[in-house]
Amino acid sequence: VGLVVALTGGIGSGKTTVADRLAVLGAGVIDTDEISRALTARDGAALEPITAVFGPDIRLADGTLDRARLRELVFSDPSARARLESILHPRIEAIMLERLAALQTDYAVLVIPLLFETGQERHADRVLVVDVPESIQIARVMRRSGLSETEVRRIIAGQIPRLERNARADDLVDNSGTRADLEPRLRELHRIYTRMAAAR
Ligand code: ATP
Repeated sequence: VGLVVALTGGIGSGKTTVADRLAVLGAGVIDTDEISRALTARDGAALEPITAVFGPDIRLADGTLDRARLRELVFSDPSARARLESILHPRIEAIMLERLAALQTDYAVLVIPLLFETGQERHADRVLVVDVPESIQIARVMRRSGLSETEVRRIIAGQIPRLERNARADDLVDNSGTRADLEPRLRELHRIYTRMAAAR
């Protein structure tokens, strides 16, 4: 891989949508959310360490992680959040770097939702931010997840503010239009990243 692009954005901004499209154009995509889900799925490597720290009540009767309960815990208790992150982040990072080393594409896209919040910019040559106005963000997340507006706003409030995130981007994608509206900008970025990768 000649160039590593970190892709970030607020909840529901369209990171997956953009990454999927760049993958079709030829990027090698690594999604840390997907790695996190696998680590916490049944038989996932993080399940036992999480249970050891949070107690058996963090599992449902069927043995899977009680995600709603865990979300409540980390929202109400910053030290619980720190403990969860200290379990997950090193494991996610290790798997991400392992996959990155194996990629054969011109450039890589690392999808890292909490890129700035977790200080992972060092892995990237370039930062790409997907941007939407908060009203659209809230509407899309509510439609997809069934969370209430209050819950979505609470999640947004726990993330880096939109303007600060955008200010730290090397490149921005505006996802306030339709999926088709994204296409010209994504083709342009793909061209730019392919060229940058070749020049390095
Ligand atoms: P999360 O942070 O929750 O993982 P994300 O940033 O990866 O989300 P997506 O999953 O790509 O965002 O998009 C959020 C929701 O909005 C999805 O249901 C997706 O289908 C929808 N969506 C994304 N882009 C658009 C668009 N341009 N027009 C309409 N709906 C969209």
